[in-house]
Amino acid sequence: MEQTLSIIKPDAVERHLEDEIKQMFLEKGFKIVKEKKIQIEKTEAELFYQVHQTKPFYNDLCTYLSSGPIVVMIIEKENAIKENRNLMGATNPKDAEEGTIRKKYGISIDKNSVHGSDSVENAKKEIDFFFKD
Ligand code: UDP
Ligand code: MG
Repeated sequence: MEQTLSIIKPDAVERHLEDEIKQMFLEKGFKIVKEKKIQIEKTEAELFYQVHQTKPFYNDLCTYLSSGPIVVMIIEKENAIKENRNLMGATNPKDAEEGTIRKKYGISIDKNSVHGSDSVENAKKEIDFFFKD
């Protein structure tokens, strides 16, 4: 079984979509192994999104991720990383396919409701980032 990190981002938590989004994971056969609702500091968001530090959207992205409560989850399934990316849909909700979380709930490229790890290496790092204790 593979594990990956999922985050329900501030725009979705604010709109009370937490349960609907978790239900979409469960319906696809994911198990939610661990979860917590937290709000992070901007400095933590900057560390989490360090891979994007040279991008023009980095500062706004970090301000946004730390702007309100988020739900971080370790989710598990066979091929979980890829399967989660499929379920999330394209980064820009406008390009996301029917049936994906971002198509259903995403507002814009920045307020796109969910995060998911993109590789085995990053899934490990991101799970450790939030759940190492
Ligand atoms: N993002 C943004 N503007 C862009 C590209 C990305 O605000 O032009 C944000 C968006 O919230 C995205 C996050 O930065 O989810 C990380 O970008 P990435 O390319 O890793 O997309 P993801 O892996 O989340 O689909
Ligand atoms: Mg990414």
